[in-house]
Order: sequence, then C-alpha cells, then structure tokens
Amino acid sequence: MHYPEPIAQLMESYMKLPGIGEKTAARLAFYTVNMQEEDVTRFAKSLISVKRDLQNCSICGNMTQNDPCDICEDKNRDQSVILVVEHTKDVISMEKMQDFKGLYHVLHGVLSPIEGTGPEDINIPILIKRLQKDEVKEVILATNATAEGEATAMYLSRLIKPSGIKVTRLAHGLSIGSDIEYADEVTLLKAVEGRREM
Ligand SMILES: [Zn+2]
Repeated sequence: MHYPEPIAQLMESYMKLPGIGEKTAARLAFYTVNMQEEDVTRFAKSLISVKRDLQNCSICGNMTQNDPCDICEDKNRDQSVILVVEHTKDVISMEKMQDFKGLYHVLHGVLSPIEGTGPEDINIPILIKRLQKDEVKEVILATNATAEGEATAMYLSRLIKPSGIKVTRLAHGLSIGSDIEYADEVTLLKAVEGRREM
C-alpha cells in the first residue's frame, strides 16, 4: 500500500519508537490525522521540548530543567550520603519511595568491556571529583543486579574505599537482573534499609 507522503513520514518517526512496527505506526499516524489541532501542536512541542529544555545536572548527572537540579539545590537533604544509580529513571523510582533523603549520582550507564564502555565513558570522573570536595560519609551503590551492574559496583567500591568513605550496596531484595525501575516501593525501601557494606 502506498501511503500519502506526510503519513509515511509520520509512520517512519513512530517506527523509531521501541516496539512499534508498521501496522501500529499506520494506526497511530491515521489516529494523529484525526486528533484536535491543539492536541497535535502540544504533542509536537513536547517532543521538541524534551530534547531542547532538558540537560544533565552538572553536579549529579540527573536529568533536569535547571542546573543544578532541585535535589542538589535542596539543602534539607542529607549531604553526607550519595546514592549511585544507572539512570535518571532510577532516581524517579527512589524519589517515589519518599524515604531516601540523601543525594544522588547518575552514571548514565554501566561499565561494559564487551561494548567498550570504560569509566571515562560514564559519569564516574565527576563522581570521584565530587567525593574529594564534598563532605560525603557514605556512598550507596544502587546499580542494577546484572553482571555489568555488579562489576560497576565492584569497580567503584575499589576506587572509593581507600578514601575512607563507607561504601554500601543495596540488599538483594532486588533479585538478580531486576531493575530498580520496576521494583515496587516496599522492595526498594527494604533494599536500602538492608544495604550491606562492601
Ligand atoms: Zn543534581
């Protein structure tokens, strides 16, 4: 079937999204044609906005509209604890739990020798600088319980421990391979409470 050019272009964009094949893309494209003009405009603007108006916090790496982010700017938070996660989505999950009152550090990935991802390729150098000047007493490593997540935690532990800062790892309430993103709040709370020293 030959689609009109604007439809074909929109379909091509939808198909760049995960899990969307040609059929779904066609359905979404035709649905979009029938949407209210103002809804389509808002949709288009928000797509541009997520690229244009977001940046990574220069302190913690969290995705934010303001730099430094609201969490780093919040002086009521415990400045002596930093919880290290892989992605911004993990910060959102932890914040939903409403129990962790320390600071974060977002790595934007994990170490992966197979994919050639080394310490300089993720947000590790800034973390190390941060630990040198801030009054941090504990670093909680909350990378996922995957092989890469564990290896990254081990690497960071070896790097940080000589400085005398306490290094802990989330308890294995989070089973192997389970992502922080998908853990419920009770499981996350237990994982933080039951963290063990590395
Ligand atoms: Zn921040």
